[in-house]
Amino acid sequence: MSLIAEPTPRSQTIVELRHDWTGAEIRALFDLPFPDLMFRAQTVHRAHFDPAEVQISTLLSIKTGGCPEDCAYCPQSARYDTGVRAEKLMALDAVLAEARAAKAAGASRFCMGAAWREPKDRDLEAVCAMVEGIKILDMETCATLGMLTAAQARRLKDAGLDYYNHNLDTSSEFYGKIITTRTYDDRLQTLAHVREAGIHVCCGGIVGMGETREDRIGMIATLANLPEHPESVPINMLVRVAGTPLSAEPKFDPLEFVRTVAVTRITMPRSVVRLSAGREDMSEETQALCFLAGANSIFYGPKLLTTPNPGRDRDMELMERLGMTSMEP
Ligand code: SF4
Repeated sequence: MSLIAEPTPRSQTIVELRHDWTGAEIRALFDLPFPDLMFRAQTVHRAHFDPAEVQISTLLSIKTGGCPEDCAYCPQSARYDTGVRAEKLMALDAVLAEARAAKAAGASRFCMGAAWREPKDRDLEAVCAMVEGIKILDMETCATLGMLTAAQARRLKDAGLDYYNHNLDTSSEFYGKIITTRTYDDRLQTLAHVREAGIHVCCGGIVGMGETREDRIGMIATLANLPEHPESVPINMLVRVAGTPLSAEPKFDPLEFVRTVAVTRITMPRSVVRLSAGREDMSEETQALCFLAGANSIFYGPKLLTTPNPGRDRDMELMERLGMTSMEP
């Protein structure tokens, strides 16, 4: 008889989905001793996911730079001198070639980002053609194109778009310190249009922008209390890009980042929690703790829009060392 129990990928714990999280409850999670928080997050994670699997997405910037918005963290804003050149929308063939390469490298989802305030209808048609082409490759599709009208969201759904990314970025209270050219309500409105069109929602935020823990609590409360939890919740660590107003922000505490991931996992048990921007600056140990805290998705590839991301080989080596594998779509 073996003394070593067979690993059980899913626990039997039933975790109810809630949409009525209070700030006090979320604060209490953040305040837990680290081992207790990690245990809670792991328990929730195992109820819904295989803890050894990571969903792998690739993100391509299909229209880089020259954005009229003033997001204080973003090197693509035309308002900041960051050395990012404004480019035109990529051609369909070039995008499909990138998607084929991403699939060959193991990505199951292909995400396309365009630095627009909102897409013009003509541009939207071009993106729809890209979505249709990528669907033929049998990959999931995601786009982040700025604000959408209800009709534009329906058009993307008709083209076959699986996910739309539109982040809340931070709490409603801190938001005005980061962006002034669109409101928090504008963001919630776009998310509602995406949801109504039947597209899966990808929505999260950025930490390390000078916000307080209360702001992180507020952001998670807003996400977790949406009528439906986003299917995908990216948690980004600020990349301090020279030329942006946040370039001199102090380095964010990695353990507070792990706590933020864990609380996201506990409050949105069935969502895929993605480690997004900022991994390049994160130690492998911090990334491993994030996986323990319930993160189960990464962006894969040497660049995240315009900022560096760990190279594919480094990611694969880390996955191997951790005994983790990529999740099927
Ligand atoms: S985050 Fe998006 S909307 Fe904001 S400046 Fe950058 S590209 Fe524009």
